[in-house]
Amino acid sequence: MAVMSKEEMGATEALDAAGGLPRLPRRIPVGSRSYSIFRDKSVDGENIYATCDYRNEEMRFSPTINARHTARTFLHELVHAVCEEYRLGLAEDDIHRLSNGLVTVLQNLNFYPVELKLPDDP
Ligand SMILES: [Zn+2]
Repeated sequence: MAVMSKEEMGATEALDAAGGLPRLPRRIPVGSRSYSIFRDKSVDGENIYATCDYRNEEMRFSPTINARHTARTFLHELVHAVCEEYRLGLAEDDIHRLSNGLVTVLQNLNFYPVELKLPDDP
């Protein structure tokens, strides 16, 4: 059986080998704001996977989306937060395409995890 060294593995795989998926912190600063990160049952996971509430500085995620989906969804919500903070004025469709492009490139480079946990996930 071949064993990969840490140098051969990507950053995410190294984290997995060290015991579990990468996990977001409870608060994430974005410019002048600091977002709380948590799951919320009121986010249904069918029509809406997550919300980014600029006024209350909260990113709320559906409890039903898996770790892979959470990774993609977090990047989408982060792009919303950055757009709001720096007044980029992008439409939902722009944010969708921008976050999809970023997540694909960054995951291919192993600079961003394929799977991600939120602070209170088991
Ligand atoms: Zn959106």
